[in-house]
Amino acid sequence: MIANYGYKNGSGDFFIAIDTDKCDGCGDCVSACPNNVFVVGEDPNDPLRDEPVAMVGEEHRKKLKYTCAPCKPDRDRSALACVAACKPLAISHSW
Ligand code: SF4
Ligand code: SF4
Repeated sequence: MIANYGYKNGSGDFFIAIDTDKCDGCGDCVSACPNNVFVVGEDPNDPLRDEPVAMVGEEHRKKLKYTCAPCKPDRDRSALACVAACKPLAISHSW
């Protein structure tokens, strides 16, 4: 499934989506992100899942626009550290 983390407000949608079918819980996004946005743990949407899954940490979910701003001048989303680190291509950004 696609797990969306973030929010919308008057200036747009600010979500990071993680495709949990693609995510293998490797943790590469955790070490790649300079702002520690990701955590890896038990899937809250699928408690029966055997492998861990990546999530956006609770404390980041309401301020992604600002947390990710230093990375965003790069218009090529595939060049973002988190996206580039994820070999299964499980991470995407809505803005
Ligand atoms: S865009 Fe940058 S700050 Fe935002 S999650 Fe990706 S690596 Fe982390
Ligand atoms: S790098 Fe990709 S596959 Fe690995 S934990 Fe993060 S989202 Fe999942």
